[in-house]
Amino acid sequence: MRRCPVCSEPSAARSDNPDFPFCTPRCKQIDLSKWLGGDYVISRSLLPSAPGGWTGGGDQT
Ligand SMILES: [Zn+2]
Repeated sequence: MRRCPVCSEPSAARSDNPDFPFCTPRCKQIDLSKWLGGDYVISRSLLPSAPGGWTGGGDQT
């Protein structure tokens, strides 16, 4: 029996469950938004501290 990666509840087999490996459509949505949100946050937070990036403009003459 697989377990839902979101809430750790047992999830039904793929043949009975269109949202496999999640237990419910709600858990599927939660996981999706977590991925999208996390990627967005990481991309944003990396920009200011990127070494040698566009932020390193020190030659303003
Ligand atoms: Zn779940």
